[in-house]
Amino acid sequence: MKPEELKTKEVITWCPGCSNFKILQAFQEAVAELGVAKNTVIVSGIGCHAKIYDYVNLKSFYGIHGRVLPIAFGVKLGDPTLNVVGFGGDGDTYAEGMEHFVHNCRYNADLTMFVHNNQVFSLTTGQATPTSEKGFKDGSTPLGVAEKPINPIVLALEAGAGFVARGYAMDVPHLKELMKKAINYRGFAFVDILQPCIIYHNVIPYLQKNIYKMSHDTSDFKTALEKAREWDYCYDKDQKVPTGVFYESERPAFESQWPQLKNPWHKIKREINWQNAIKEFN
Ligand code: SF4
Repeated sequence: MKPEELKTKEVITWCPGCSNFKILQAFQEAVAELGVAKNTVIVSGIGCHAKIYDYVNLKSFYGIHGRVLPIAFGVKLGDPTLNVVGFGGDGDTYAEGMEHFVHNCRYNADLTMFVHNNQVFSLTTGQATPTSEKGFKDGSTPLGVAEKPINPIVLALEAGAGFVARGYAMDVPHLKELMKKAINYRGFAFVDILQPCIIYHNVIPYLQKNIYKMSHDTSDFKTALEKAREWDYCYDKDQKVPTGVFYESERPAFESQWPQLKNPWHKIKREINWQNAIKEFN
């Protein structure tokens, strides 16, 4: 399969030059190279990122704000043979969807979660999210954000995620390889993708200068945490920004521990007695 076959006829309404185009390209190339299109379902939330639902020619579900993961989890349990990929924004995942994020890191269902992290609510014109840097000013925080941002990499590691990585939207070849690794991982794979919004939070010059690719033993949790803390998602001073896989470990996937999922329940043909069902509701 060629990546072009994963395009749709929808007109893309992201701003010209938006880094979401790069994520779309990396994902289409990753799916084409892995040859998993037939079996893949994507789920998106609400935000600029979510339009990816319209632009990828795959089975998909357009979710509501913050609820990408419960939907993806339900799809996976409904048919454990599917390759389920969630796309969320930083506001979507780390604000409204925070509890789902933490618990999905714990559950370790065989899902992949890509977060388009532009550190701003871009679709609603630039309000602060939980990953906006301290001091970030916008119409809703004219004096600047007072709190430190959440570090989603540290959070995912501490919550027990088995595969934790950071990508950079402007580096498509590297992001594509990370996506392939995440999709192939058996368990909950999380990739925080730095996706600068060129309208409301353009940090491309800083990232271009400070990003580097990690190379360490990714089974070493302590080193993964140290690497995760190298950058605090702020821009007040030069800090190195590591990208790549922080941590990868083998853990039994959620669905593998449920005996009822070992039998292919999604394939059992259920006969519904409608008359009984109606009687019950009457
Ligand atoms: Fe991309 Fe920002 Fe435009 Fe949204 S507002 S489409 S994130 S550049």
